[in-house]
Amino acid sequence: MNHATSSALTAREAIQRALNGEIGAFVDGRILTGSGDVVPLTVAATGESMVGYCDPDVEGAREVVESSVRGAALWAATDPFERAAILRQVSRAIGEHAEELAQLESATIGKTLRDARVEAAKISEMFGYYSGWADKVMGQTIPVPGNWHTYTERVPYGVVVAITPWNAPMFTAGWNAAAPLAAGNAVILKPSEFTPVSTVRLAQIAHGAGLPDGVFNVAVGLGRTVGVTLTTDPRVGKVSFIGSVATGRRVGIAAAGAGIPTILELGGKSANIVFADADLDRASDGAVAAIFSAAGQSCVAGSRLLVQRGINDEFLALVAEKAARLRMGDPLDPSTEVGPIITPAQFDVVRSLIARGIDDGAVRLTASELPGEITGSHLAGGQWVRPTLLDGVTPNNRLETTEVFGPVVGADVFDNEEQAIARANGTDFGLAGAVWTENVSRAHRVARAVRAGTFWVNAYKNIHVAAPFGGFGDSGHGRSSGPGAIDEYTQIKAIWVPTQTAAAPFPSLTY
Ligand code: NAD
Repeated sequence: MNHATSSALTAREAIQRALNGEIGAFVDGRILTGSGDVVPLTVAATGESMVGYCDPDVEGAREVVESSVRGAALWAATDPFERAAILRQVSRAIGEHAEELAQLESATIGKTLRDARVEAAKISEMFGYYSGWADKVMGQTIPVPGNWHTYTERVPYGVVVAITPWNAPMFTAGWNAAAPLAAGNAVILKPSEFTPVSTVRLAQIAHGAGLPDGVFNVAVGLGRTVGVTLTTDPRVGKVSFIGSVATGRRVGIAAAGAGIPTILELGGKSANIVFADADLDRASDGAVAAIFSAAGQSCVAGSRLLVQRGINDEFLALVAEKAARLRMGDPLDPSTEVGPIITPAQFDVVRSLIARGIDDGAVRLTASELPGEITGSHLAGGQWVRPTLLDGVTPNNRLETTEVFGPVVGADVFDNEEQAIARANGTDFGLAGAVWTENVSRAHRVARAVRAGTFWVNAYKNIHVAAPFGGFGDSGHGRSSGPGAIDEYTQIKAIWVPTQTAAAPFPSLTY
C-alpha cells in the first residue's frame, strides 16, 4: 500500500469508526442520509478524494426543523437544574471522547492534531461553562409607578440555527451550541458542506450523554439548499452565522425577511502593532503564532503586521526566521505545526492573493518552495502553502484590506502611535488586533482606539468561552460567548401584576 492511499484510508476509517461510515443529518439521535446532489470530500494533506455524501436538500432540512421544534418544546419545559445536569454530563462525555474527536477532525479536514486536541478540550470546557449558566437564567423586578409588581423573564427563542465555517468545524459547533442550549433552546447546527463529520459526531456524543431527541440536531449539506431553508423557516427563532462577510450579509437579509434575528460572526483583517520598545523576541513569537497557527485559517489571524520604523528590518528578520522553522507535515503527526489549506477552492484563493500582493509591490521575505518533508513525501499532492511574510504591503496594496484566510501576513512600517492606530482602523473589518509595547499607558490608549471586538496587549489569539467574542463593522454583530450570550439567546418578557384589586379596567395610558 502506498502512502497516498493510506491517507484517504485513514480518513475513511475514522469516519467508519465514528459514524459507521454514514455522513448525514443527525436527527432525533439517528443519522439520516440525503438523496440530493453528491458533495465530494477530499483529503487536504494529499489532495486525494476521500468520500462523498448526499445533500439532504430542502425537504431534508425541513425534517430537521420539525424534529427541533419538538425538541425545543421539550427542552424549554425541562427543569433548568436538570438541563444544567445534562449539560455537565455532555461536557464530561466530550472530555472522555476528546482524543477521538481530535483524531477525527485531524484525519478528515487536515487540521493539525496538536490544534485539534486543544480544540476538543475547549469544547468540553464550553459545555462545562454554560452548564453553570443553565440554572441561572434570571429576570429582574422592575420598579414602575403605581400599584404594580412588574418583573421580567428570559424566554428561549425555541429553535436556534447555527451555521458554521470549514476552518474550525468542531470548535465553532461547541462554541455556538453550548450557550443556546443552556438558555433553553434547541439547536440545529449546520456545518460547512466541506467539513461535516466532527459536528455529527459531537451531536451524537451529546445525545448519548443525555440530551433528549431533537434538542441538538445537525443538518449537513449545502448553503444554497439546507442553509437557505434553515435561515428562512419561520419556525426558527434565531440564527447565528459564522462565515464570510458576503454570505453573512446574504443570510442576514434573508433571515430578516422571515422575521428572524441574527448574530453574525464574520471575517477579519486584524492588525498586530509592534512598537520599538516591545520585547521583540516575545512579539515575534506572537506575530508568528498570530498568523501561522492553523495555517492562517483563523478569523482572528494577525494578517497585518505594523512595525515601528527603526526596528522594522530586525523584527521582520526574526519573524521570517521563526516562520521558516515551523514544521509542516502530516496533520496527524503531533509534532506538525502547520497543516494544509482545508478546501481546494481556498487553496487557489490563497495562492492567487499572494501573487496579487506581489503584483501590487509587496516583497516576499520567506521562501516560497515547500520543504522536502512535503515535496518528497506522500503529501506532495496536498494543498500546501508555505508560511509567507510579505513586506511593503502599503495601504494601496490589495492585500491591505482583503482577508486571505491562509498563512500570509503583510507587513509595513509606521512612525508613530497615531499612524499605527489609523492604519489599524483602515479597513471595514473590526474583529481583533494586538499591540506589543512595554509602555503601559500607550498599550491602553491603543487598545481603546482600535476598532475591534477583541484586542490583546502583548499577546495574541487568546480566546475563552467565558469572555465576549464578536466583531465591529463588517466583522459582524452580536456576542455568542461570555455571560452576554445568555441574553443573546433569550427574549425578555415583562409581566405586570396589579397589587391593588381596584386597578383601572381601562388604563388611560395605552401604547
Ligand atoms: P462561507 O460564508 O462560505 O460559509 C459559511 C457557512 O455558510 C457554510 O456552512 C455554508 O454552507 C453556509 N452558507 C453558504 N451559503 C449560504 C446561504 N445562502 N444561506 C445560509 N448558509 C449558507 O464561509 P467559509 O468559507 O466556510 O468560512 C470562512 C470565513 O469564515 C472567513 O471569512 C472567516 O473569517 C470566517 N470566520 C469567522 C469567524 C468568527 O467568529 N468571526 C470564525 C471562523 C471563521
